Amino acid sequence: MAHVPPTRVSDNPIIAFFQYVWSAAYTTAKGLRVTGYNAMRRPRVTVCYPLEQLDISPRTRARHRLLTDEQGEPLCIACGQCQRTCPDHCVVVTRKKVTVTTPEGEEKQVNRPDTFTIDLARCMYCNLCAEACPVNCLHLTREFSYIEGDVRALTIDLDGLLRPEPLSEYELRQRETAQLAPGDGEEG
Ligand code: SF4
Ligand code: SF4
Repeated sequence: MAHVPPTRVSDNPIIAFFQYVWSAAYTTAKGLRVTGYNAMRRPRVTVCYPLEQLDISPRTRARHRLLTDEQGEPLCIACGQCQRTCPDHCVVVTRKKVTVTTPEGEEKQVNRPDTFTIDLARCMYCNLCAEACPVNCLHLTREFSYIEGDVRALTIDLDGLLRPEPLSEYELRQRETAQLAPGDGEEG
């Protein structure tokens, strides 16, 4: 492949025609050479997704999840920090009061999310919402494969964020570090 495509096209139309033909053949062969090299290369760097899937980085950030306590109740205190922090304005949280019984047997009112939506179509997966969470109950999972025909379906709600699927080891570790903030949800 010592030849290079012509940089100057002849004024003679017949010569120009063959110059173009040669240029097209040369660039096609060059492209196929790269394709062939990569197709034969081992180990492979690409796979036939989704039939085959590569291990993704443990640091991957994708779909969000809200952690729950052992009883399946959301740990979120509906403080709105994630909503205020999100640079893309794709988090919306509304709150409600619920009555819980403390380990000491007292009843108290706490804040919990009434609605909680995240628009994944606008999210840039920066993780700022999770970092802002004072009780460490919001985090981004490695679930990157969600395809919808309607962009509105990419807005996940509270149920979607609290899915009862088994927690990964990472999520279990996150839940261990999750804790209720002092004075969580006290009246006011
Ligand atoms: S990851 Fe970033 S863009 Fe996405 S919801 Fe959280 S703060 Fe917003
Ligand atoms: S920052 Fe955390 S606790 Fe506050 S609303 Fe968001 S997820 Fe809930």
